[in-house]
Amino acid sequence: MELIYLDHNSTTPMLPEVVEAMAPYQASVYGNPASAHAAGRKARQALETAREQVAACLGADPAEVLFTSGATEANNLALFGLARQPPGQVIISAVEHPSVSEPVAELRRRGFKVDVLPVNGAGVACVEALSALLGPATRLATVMLANNETGAIQPVAALTQECKGRDVAFHCDAAQAAGKIPVSFHTLGATSLSVSAHKFHGPKGIGALLIRTSARVRPTLFGGHQQRGLRPGTEPVALAVGLAKALELAYRDMQQRTRQVAKLRERFLTGLCRDTNRIVLNSPAEDSLPYTLNISFPGCQADLLLMKLDLAGVACSTGSACSSGSLLPSPVLRAMNCPPEVFHSAMRFSLCHLNTEHEIDLAVERISAAVAALRDTAEVSPGTSWPSFT
Ligand code: PMP
Repeated sequence: MELIYLDHNSTTPMLPEVVEAMAPYQASVYGNPASAHAAGRKARQALETAREQVAACLGADPAEVLFTSGATEANNLALFGLARQPPGQVIISAVEHPSVSEPVAELRRRGFKVDVLPVNGAGVACVEALSALLGPATRLATVMLANNETGAIQPVAALTQECKGRDVAFHCDAAQAAGKIPVSFHTLGATSLSVSAHKFHGPKGIGALLIRTSARVRPTLFGGHQQRGLRPGTEPVALAVGLAKALELAYRDMQQRTRQVAKLRERFLTGLCRDTNRIVLNSPAEDSLPYTLNISFPGCQADLLLMKLDLAGVACSTGSACSSGSLLPSPVLRAMNCPPEVFHSAMRFSLCHLNTEHEIDLAVERISAAVAALRDTAEVSPGTSWPSFT
């Protein structure tokens, strides 16, 4: 059976060009970039070139790029590094990834006051609500650029503008946005921004935190002088080269990939609307990544549908992969005020430019069959009213 992979927000396959670019640094160029000899210098050169490439793609200075093990580490470093003593207020959007919301929960345990920035029905944070929350005790605000569950794009540039002139650091988790839409660190006006290579066809185990050189930040790891002492440890040169290559390819092909994915998205939605009546689109129609489709199938239980689709050869997700295994309803959909029948039946399909029209048609067929079978067996009480369908 042909496997159809529609879970690219969880991770993406590496592109052959990325594997090829990394190959020499996994074998023949093995020096430690901190070593003073020729082997070390060769590795250092590759590392610094990768740093420059990442900076150029993301509108930052090379000195602002810290390589980390991924976005989770980058988010932790930003949040714990920027939340200065004495504890003050931290503002977090209601739809953050656990790699942001859990460190913020830890900051709360350490004495910080945490306020949640609400989102509207489309999952988008409100700029006026941020200005109402900001006060003299605010230390830090954190809002992602694109949501991992719905694809909703947040008005980060407008939000950072609200923080201007105040002594407030602003962190932006751009793990789902980088490589899919243009991201310019300086234009967004954030203090720090995180990315993860495996979300855009790069290797797993590497990401970056962009952080202003003027930011008052404390390291969370100690024991080395690497990367301004803010992220000590021997840098993984091959992974950094892979990250930079994947980002360069993503920027080179961005328009073409976006067009292609938008077409596939349209085909997928049209097919599902035609063959699977009663669906609810939870991703916003505008200001959203075309890559992510969050769709509810009222009358189905998401975890059962996920299993059925897995058996049918369709890989997707019920929310963020990090929360799969838990049957708790998605906090993102709850923050958007979705009714229970919507969040209990919500699935996330995330596409990429490598998907084909044939795969999309097959996926529609398999999903429609699985949904029909589940609805047939589900007990629907008479008079159940379905929400509006898209
Ligand atoms: N932030 C967001 C929005 C994500 O989607 C993810 C990946 N699920 C992360 C952070 C964490 O990235 P990583 O697992 O690569 O550390």
